[in-house]
Amino acid sequence: MRLCSAFAVLFSNATHAQSRPAPAADRPQVKNRMNFVGIQVRGFSWVDEGVNQVLDNLQKKGDVNTIWAYTFSYGEARLRKNGPIPLPDHGKPGDTIAGGALYDYDPKYFRNTILKDFRCDVYGNFNVIEAVAPKAHDRGMDFFAWDLNNPGAGLNRTIPNYVEVSEIDLYGRRTASPCFNNPDYRAFLSGKVESLLLGYPDLIDGIAWGSERTGPFENLVGRMVPATCFCQFCRAKAEDRGVSVSRAQAGYRELEQLFRAAAADEPNADGYFVSFWRILLRYPEILSWETLWTDSYQELEAQLYGEAKALAPEKPFGFHIMQSFTFSPFYRAEEDYTKRRNFADFLKPATYNNAGGPRMAAYLNRLSRTIFHDAKPEDFNDFYYRIMGDPQAPYDQLATTGLTADYVARETKRAVEEVAGMVKIYPGIDIDVPTLTNAKIPEKRTAPDDVHKSIRAAFSAGADGVVLSREYAEMWLANLAAAGDALREVFAEKPHA
Ligand SMILES: [Zn+2]
Repeated sequence: MRLCSAFAVLFSNATHAQSRPAPAADRPQVKNRMNFVGIQVRGFSWVDEGVNQVLDNLQKKGDVNTIWAYTFSYGEARLRKNGPIPLPDHGKPGDTIAGGALYDYDPKYFRNTILKDFRCDVYGNFNVIEAVAPKAHDRGMDFFAWDLNNPGAGLNRTIPNYVEVSEIDLYGRRTASPCFNNPDYRAFLSGKVESLLLGYPDLIDGIAWGSERTGPFENLVGRMVPATCFCQFCRAKAEDRGVSVSRAQAGYRELEQLFRAAAADEPNADGYFVSFWRILLRYPEILSWETLWTDSYQELEAQLYGEAKALAPEKPFGFHIMQSFTFSPFYRAEEDYTKRRNFADFLKPATYNNAGGPRMAAYLNRLSRTIFHDAKPEDFNDFYYRIMGDPQAPYDQLATTGLTADYVARETKRAVEEVAGMVKIYPGIDIDVPTLTNAKIPEKRTAPDDVHKSIRAAFSAGADGVVLSREYAEMWLANLAAAGDALREVFAEKPHA
């Protein structure tokens, strides 16, 4: 059954609504847990270490009460013993990479999509919901499906027809990123939500949904990725909005040429920022295309939320927000928390402060290779910190020092204030989010004291809970235990609702 309830329609329009809070009576009654402590767990962790052993570590060391178990992933890579990201003191080394669903689903939920066959069978018939949820429940823990829909080139190979729903770039090429306006992809994502909530009504306690994606403008500025998406569905949507497809393409082509010239250090008489701005003036369609992409992404999220609420109003349904929104002023402008009030029960902003150091340094470096090419990162890092409201170490020390615990507090506070009590905020706490040990300058690694400080920072800024991040498989047990100690300390001082 495809869901097309008034609820879904209501929420699918949410992104265009005013940012006024909806009346409390209209909100579904969601059973949010007090003192929420989540953790993300890859499929192979259960298989390699055993379900009971993993649950023991999470509960006893990490004080975790809510499992975010990958029920779908774009690929799973085990760590290697001597790799750039070392295997911690648990788990098994290896290089298995597999994508797809780690649970069994009824094909009836996927009747309206060409994406029907996406079961990951690398671990035999391991069904993470059936294997883990009952044992988690026996321990008083909740089980959330972590439905992470990042792009993954591997899925184009393993899921029949997956390539058919992918975005088409400026040059007419298929990509590894599915298109949010493709009806088959949308039906696939809806089908997954239905298959989880209706297929496992007693085992799934909530859904965390994620898709780490940014629009064509951000992709070009930040990563030199050619603009998308120019498929028939996006073209039709642009036409409805009165946006010229050919002018958007011409604009992105010029912008890409400018950034290629910057990368080659070619001289620019007017300066790169002026040239960048001139292209925007000539082709406002560049920003219209970015907005079309962002609206499509957020409309889809609102639709999935509406569908989930129609099926199981009491079960929390929320979203992961990728860390780029804390680095990029452009992406931050698009991820407007006030809009999220209407279509999320909880949000997990990825506030990874240790890995945030090298990541922010990389972002500053990218700005200096594109729109700010006439300046070096160290020339504008103070200015950048001021406009982002977040003072940090000088550029040349960022990768080594990481970001401060204040970064976690500031981002948490901003989120808490902007959702105005209508959405729970669970910041992602950095526990060994990978940094490179073989970089020229050694990058920041997590220490127990870092974990302690960032957890205290999150709660002091008003967090409703935390999600220990990124993956259990990456965490050293001493750092996981530091999280548990800090959490017990915080909850003993003041129980949080
Ligand atoms: Zn498209």
